[in-house]
Amino acid sequence: MAKDFSRAFYHSAEWAQARDAALTRDAHLCQHCLKRGDITPAVMVHHIKELSPSNVDDPDIATNPDNLVSLCDRCHKQVHGWIRQGATRQGFGFDSDGNLVPLD
Ligand SMILES: [Zn+2]
Ligand SMILES: [Zn+2]
Repeated sequence: MAKDFSRAFYHSAEWAQARDAALTRDAHLCQHCLKRGDITPAVMVHHIKELSPSNVDDPDIATNPDNLVSLCDRCHKQVHGWIRQGATRQGFGFDSDGNLVPLD
């Protein structure tokens, strides 16, 4: 899924370190599930401000712990709007109880 501009970055030692640090900080748990009281193992670290060709070399974005959050696969897809559930509007998803909630 990595785009061309970020391929080298995602193979860098800097990213491996930042990713590990974020996972350790977040106890390897999905932080969005945790907010809802669900304990779900995180499978990846997401950039809150998305990486782009212009910021991939900027440590304030690319490897800043404040810009990183550990997520499970499902929450990650929701964050990016890759899950479109029927009548769900963009920017909204369903929580674990099936309520329509705005995605943050
Ligand atoms: Zn989750
Ligand atoms: Zn992401």
